[in-house]
Order: sequence, then C-alpha cells, then structure tokens
Amino acid sequence: NLLLATAGIDEITNPEESIRPHRLDDYIGQKDLKEVLKIAIAAAKSRGEAMDHILLYGPPGLGKTTMSLILASEMGVNCKITAAPALERPRDITGILINLKPGDILFIDEIHRLNRMTEELLYPAMEDCRLDITIGKGQTARTRSIPLPPFTLIGATTKVGSLTSPLRDRFGLIQRLRFYELDELTLIVQRTADLLQTPVTLEGAQEIARRARGTPRIANRLLRRVRDYAQVKVMETVDQAIAAEALELFNVDPCGLDWTDRLVLGTIIEQFRGGPVGLEAVAAATGEDSKTIEEVYEPYLLQIGFLNRTTRGRVATEAAYEHLGYAV
Ligand code: ADP
Repeated sequence: NLLLATAGIDEITNPEESIRPHRLDDYIGQKDLKEVLKIAIAAAKSRGEAMDHILLYGPPGLGKTTMSLILASEMGVNCKITAAPALERPRDITGILINLKPGDILFIDEIHRLNRMTEELLYPAMEDCRLDITIGKGQTARTRSIPLPPFTLIGATTKVGSLTSPLRDRFGLIQRLRFYELDELTLIVQRTADLLQTPVTLEGAQEIARRARGTPRIANRLLRRVRDYAQVKVMETVDQAIAAEALELFNVDPCGLDWTDRLVLGTIIEQFRGGPVGLEAVAAATGEDSKTIEEVYEPYLLQIGFLNRTTRGRVATEAAYEHLGYAV
C-alpha cells in the first residue's frame, strides 16, 4: 500500500515518470533499435567498459529519454538527464561532467541546440575522457586538462541534420526511432491502463491508439483524457464508443489530428492554394512557431501522406483535402 501511495504521488507530480517502462523487455516496439542496443549492452558489459556514445533521433515522445533510463538500469549505472538549453554557460556542462561516476550515462536532450563553447568542451570529453578548461583571461590564460571517468553520452534530437559534423562523428551509434505501429501503440495503451487501474477493452485501446499519431506519449495522454471522461460519465470500462466520444470532445479526430494540425493543413489549402509554400509563411499565417511546426507537427503529417515537402515548399496532398472535406 505504501508503494501504491508513492506511485500515486509520483503520478501527480510527474505523470510521465510513473508509467515509464524500466526494463528493455517492457519497452514496446522499436525492434531494430532494441536489437542494436542489446548487443551494445552485452559487449560493454563483457568488456567491463562504458557503452559507446549514442545518438537517438526522431520526433518527440517516441521514447528517447525512456530508452536512456532503461540503458542505465540495464548497465547498473546512473543516468543524468539534461537538455541543451540548460547548458548555457561552460560551467553548466563542466559541473555535470566532473560529477559523473565511471560508466554513468549523461543524457542531453535537444542536443542540436548546444552552443559552440559547450560543444567544444564535449569533444575531448567524449573522445579522450578529458575536460579542457581555461583558467584566467587574456594573456595569462592557461588551459588545464582534467581527467574524467569513462562515461556514455546519449544525445537526443528531433533534427539530426542540424548537428555539426564534428559532434555527430563522435557518436559510435546513431539510431533513428520510428513512429509506432497500431498494434504496438495498442499494447502501450493497455499497459498504461493497467498501471492506472483503468479497465479498457481491446477495441477501446485500439481507438485510442489509432488517434495517437504513432507516438507513445500522445497515446498515454489521450488515455488519461478518456479515463477522466469515463469517470465523469460513470463508466466502469473504457470501450470503443466511450474512447471515440471522449476524443471527439477533446478535438482529436479519427486520424489523430488535433486543432493545430488541421489549422496548418487548412491554412496551406485555403490561403496558399495547397502550396507549395515556405515554412515561415505557414508559421506567420497560423501564428505558430516555425520550429514547432517543423519538429512536432510536420513529421506525422508527412508520415501519413497529408503533406509533402518539396524544394519549393510544403504541399498539401489530395488525402489532406479529402480528410478536411475540401474539394481537390
Ligand atoms: P522522448 O524522450 O523521445 O521525447 P519519452 O522517452 O519521454 O520520449 O517517452 C514519452 C512517454 O512515452 C514516456 O512516459 C513513456 O512512458 C512512454 N513510452 C515511450 N516509448 C515507449 C515504449 N517503447 N514502450 C512503452 N512506453 C513508452
């Protein structure tokens, strides 16, 4: 009961933490990624070394942070989690590096946003386990090298193309995470529903999975909304009808598109005759941030074939016209 009580508190303070899988076997889908990492774990363990540096890329919410935490627990080491925007000053990264224990994992999210100074401190750290710091200023400045314990850097990014090549070259493994298949997302919904003690039928779980844009974080978020809805309607079990009803109410359509997706597509169709139109023009016309459109919304619209990216800009496809009810 005490365990349950702490899980309850966890869920309130950070709902994502309480439902993260902790072992590789509980990590659903991403078969190729898991195979590659299983080998990396076994090899590092048998040599008694830290794992090679790993770069994970793909849209947000696909399980990059979760995978890093799992790798740490499989390796029996700590995982320090940070993100590039939190590493503004040189002392931010040096403070973290100096405190690492042998074999530890350092996870840096949004690694394509690192500033130059921080990035340059990372090069010798990644390559030779060495921290080069400059003491003093101007003519009296001297560089001192501090040895670091061997560690594993796991970088996560939504835009692998934005990494500088010296940084990219220092990762031994570069792995893409893909959108999840419907059956995998259904399993994720069922697993989370179990943890939240919310009974859900197979069809109910599938309905949520279908609208989750191939993304576990979204699947879990939708499940919570459906759970609230079912609770208010005094329904014991989440079935397909309740799931569909709830998600309609929250503006998530049968393809998983939300209000912003529809705004982006609708704008391209109505204001730019379906495109081609540049990203910045779409951002200005919709009032959305261009980075968010590019990194959060577009990948799924591209994946389901509602949007094309051409050299002259974004184009809404016939499928998008049909889905939104426009004449082609
Ligand atoms: P990212 O770091 O790529 O943005 P996260 O690792 O934070 O994504 O994952 C978001 C949420 O989705 C987590 O809370 C986790 O519970 C869930 N999740 C992600 N991948 C999986 C998976 N393969 N199996 C089960 N749950 C997952």
